[in-house]
Amino acid sequence: MLDHDVVVAGAGPAGLSAALALAKLGLRTAIVERQPIESFAEPKVDGRDIALTGRSRQILTDLGVWQWFDAADISPITTARVVDGERPGILQFDPPPARQDALGYLVSNHLIRRGLYQVAAARPEISFLAGQKVTDVRSDAATAAALLDSGELVRGGLLVAADSRFSEIREMMGIKADMTPFGKTMLVFHMTHERPHQQTAYECFNYGHTLALLPLNGLRSSIVMTVPTRQAQSFIDMSDEALAAVVMARFRHRFGQMAVEGKRFAYPLTGVYAREFVGRRFALIGDAAVGMHPVTAHGFNFGLLGQAILVDVIRQTLEEGGDIGSDQALAQFATRHRRATRPLYLATNALVRLYTNDSPPARLARTALLAAANHFAPAKRLIVSRLGEPGDDALPIA
Ligand SMILES: Cc1cc2nc3c(=O)[nH]c(=O)nc-3n(C[C@H](O)[C@H](O)[C@H](O)COP(=O)(O)OP(=O)(O)OC[C@H]3O[C@@H](n4cnc5c(N)ncnc54)[C@H](O)[C@@H]3O)c2cc1C
Repeated sequence: MLDHDVVVAGAGPAGLSAALALAKLGLRTAIVERQPIESFAEPKVDGRDIALTGRSRQILTDLGVWQWFDAADISPITTARVVDGERPGILQFDPPPARQDALGYLVSNHLIRRGLYQVAAARPEISFLAGQKVTDVRSDAATAAALLDSGELVRGGLLVAADSRFSEIREMMGIKADMTPFGKTMLVFHMTHERPHQQTAYECFNYGHTLALLPLNGLRSSIVMTVPTRQAQSFIDMSDEALAAVVMARFRHRFGQMAVEGKRFAYPLTGVYAREFVGRRFALIGDAAVGMHPVTAHGFNFGLLGQAILVDVIRQTLEEGGDIGSDQALAQFATRHRRATRPLYLATNALVRLYTNDSPPARLARTALLAAANHFAPAKRLIVSRLGEPGDDALPIA
């Protein structure tokens, strides 16, 4: 008899949501996290406001986490606009009629993490092993095990790694990943402004940098600026007034007087796609499986989707009286996960290349792309449905 049915490594948002979904199936789950318990019980503000799709909202509702958020902490995005350089041409996305009230919903990352932990901590099926790092992993025909730096061996029928895009456990399992260092850094910070954003998200490509405004409730926004990594420090060192002036000019004073609020956070960007999602009694989820460029806001949405696909496969396997760590079950997960994530991973990287390249051919190509997309309803519908569809064939939601 094993101590746990499943061992999850990493108590980031992907690991916590997987542990919760497994607990809901009645599986005894150990979650190992190298950081001390306070870091995920009371996570600090990290500047990230996560755009969640309608499908992610549904998954978080099923996990009992969405209900935990204060309504005031959920900012709907009802429209999205893409603005290209100096040109007036704008690509606009409105919400799909009658399906949902918004294109997406913004919730701060620390609140998502806190909500996931609070709900998970109340589940008797979940054991937290905090402040303990996984230093080695092994698996055989019957068991998967994680060796912790305390010397303890934690064993289960399946080991799930959600230990970030630079996953050491992925390496320990001998799984390679395609890494794309973008040479860019993402700066995130909040701003207040005079004129309303009407809950519209703006993505603005000009001056060799990209700039997004994500509408928080009230006269506030989350600003996301992508700059070449070598220039990032100069934006971090800039005075609040100088930074506000840069943003106001880029948005052509559309929002009136703007002011920087609070701290700035910097995230260097690397895209990651694991070559395999599974090994013997082993599965990868979250950024450890697919680490997206944040521009299309799919990172945690894919983390939620990946764990939901894995848990759906496990549920089916249990119903059929099978083994949750079997090669057959894991192969099903891998196929469905790849099908759900690969096209958008490749499309996002292509978009990033196009929009962060200021050469004349790239400018021409993206102007043509925007013009075409704006007049080609099926393309727009596809993009909007990817943003907001509550489920697809990859994931039947109960
Ligand atoms: C600026 C920015 C904006 C973003 N915006 C969006 C957005 O709008 N929408 C969206 O969907 N996504 C967005 N994302 C992506 C999203 O934040 C990530 O996809 C998500 O946080 C990844 O969660 P995770 O649990 O997979 O990994 P992580 O949050 O990296 O967690 C991994 C955990 O594993 C632990 N760990 C690592 N190694 C070990 C070990 N050996 N033993 C034990 N524990 C270990 C770590 O301590 C950590 O707690 C954004 C990201 C950035 C940087």
